[in-house]
Amino acid sequence: MNFSKVDNMARSMSDKHYDLVVVGAGVVGLMTAYAARQRGLKVAVVERTAQSIGASIRNFGFVTVTGQRRGEHWRRAMKTRDAWLAIAPQAGIPVIHPGLYLTAQRPEALAVVEAFLRTEMGEGCELLTPAQTQARFGETALGPHLAALYSPHERRVESREAIPKLAAWLQAAQGVDFHWRTVVHGVDLPTVATSRGVLRADHCVVCPGHELNALYPEAIEQARIRMSTLQMMRVRPAVPVHLPAALMSDLSLVRYEGYSELPEAAPLLQRLQAEQGEHLKQGVHLIVVQSADGSLVVGDSHVYGDAEAPFGSTAVDELILDELRRVLPAAGSAGAVVTERWTGTYASAADVVFKTSPSQGVALGIVTGGTGASTSYAFAEELLALALGA
Ligand SMILES: Cc1cc2nc3c(=O)[nH]c(=O)nc-3n(C[C@H](O)[C@H](O)[C@H](O)COP(=O)(O)OP(=O)(O)OC[C@H]3O[C@@H](n4cnc5c(N)ncnc54)[C@H](O)[C@@H]3O)c2cc1C
Repeated sequence: MNFSKVDNMARSMSDKHYDLVVVGAGVVGLMTAYAARQRGLKVAVVERTAQSIGASIRNFGFVTVTGQRRGEHWRRAMKTRDAWLAIAPQAGIPVIHPGLYLTAQRPEALAVVEAFLRTEMGEGCELLTPAQTQARFGETALGPHLAALYSPHERRVESREAIPKLAAWLQAAQGVDFHWRTVVHGVDLPTVATSRGVLRADHCVVCPGHELNALYPEAIEQARIRMSTLQMMRVRPAVPVHLPAALMSDLSLVRYEGYSELPEAAPLLQRLQAEQGEHLKQGVHLIVVQSADGSLVVGDSHVYGDAEAPFGSTAVDELILDELRRVLPAAGSAGAVVTERWTGTYASAADVVFKTSPSQGVALGIVTGGTGASTSYAFAEELLALALGA
């Protein structure tokens, strides 16, 4: 090993002094860097891997408002949706189909949708008849349903392309420094100790995603944060399918807290336990979104533990496909091919976000509700305020 080269590298890193070092180049870290640049701060992002490969590129890219936990988190989603709309054209990120359709198959599901529409979260949303809904899907046949909730608020980006583009734009147009393939071992401001030397910073925001054991493990353990691993698929239908927006179904009404915390969700849960118990046991609900090439991203399931679940199950994939065939028969018809399967893991806890300041000038933040694509910008602003003491 050439030790003088290593010394030089460490020295050249410590020559740089930043207003803010962000740990982690997932969506939360990148949005934090963006929010810091809006305040005119000099920013560096340090990322363990050579490119973002975590939850932020494995998700649906579904920037969801409707269904988020009522109150503060719903407002985070609205704000973050607007941030995506502001960033996307500048960073060259296509915003793919807008909005959401949630088809209600059971009377109990319709009751939840109607109750949701009576809340302030229902603003701008509509209840559609099956004929109205089908008209919007054109020749793409929907499964039998009683009515559909339409929300205009959602947007979608293709995360595996959007996240690298966001990082590249932050670097090229916003002047953010990126240190890839660099692990942060400890933060003791103004020192940020990394596997490639020391960085100097006045403030630091740590956005580690589901890396729960590296930095501040005691604080993370106290917050009872665990991991949730999801199974996902890309499906190429045998016949052309056109989705005007993202599609969800009854199972989502007992998972997304904006619906599931309404009293009307209890009878639906009871019925689903009787009729789709295995789906509930595996944490399966349906989200379908469409990519530019016409293929569908379909998921998901949830298994909880202290580590990532290393092995996907075909039986669980089959439960997801079973719900797909029920809700969007055209997509699941004979000849449809699953072209990709992958898993993704996010940090999970009873509360939807975890934030703390472990020492002066430092903030640690994790989205623990599985909604980082939808809430990261607003959350990033909160983390920044915590680190800056503002
Ligand atoms: C399959 C799946 C589907 C989902 N679908 C959606 C969706 O459609 N809409 C939505 O809103 N949310 C969705 N989510 C949730 C969302 O993806 C996450 O909430 C979000 O991506 C978390 O972002 P993050 O930046 O915290 O984590 P990550 O993307 O995991 O990034 C954290 C980064 O920090 C780095 N890191 C950690 N520790 C260190 C260290 N010490 N030094 C250097 N680097 C470090 C890691 O390498 C990693 O790159 C989904 C999640 C999954 C898994």
